[in-house]
Amino acid sequence: MSKSCRPSPSTSDAEWTVRHVVPCSDWNSTTETCPMCGDSVDLLDAHYQVELDRERAPAEGEKLTRERRLLAFCDESCADAWLDETTTVADEVADANH
Ligand SMILES: [Zn+2]
Repeated sequence: MSKSCRPSPSTSDAEWTVRHVVPCSDWNSTTETCPMCGDSVDLLDAHYQVELDRERAPAEGEKLTRERRLLAFCDESCADAWLDETTTVADEVADANH
């Protein structure tokens, strides 16, 4: 009665994969908003960059592409907290069912 081998449907709502988290500073004088605490992050200063990518559902006649996203955090603890939050969601859902 248990059919657990169903392949999970792969839709456009693919999960983001964390490529790498690096401390860096940029030469662009751009200001980004830290997705964790909402502070502004000056890219000229040392900050934490998180690179994510995921599969993007291709439009008709297109090849499968990947979507890339860069996030700038003010420091390591913000990046960690954000990654924690985004990667534990699935666990929490499983926990709530139990
Ligand atoms: Zn922050």
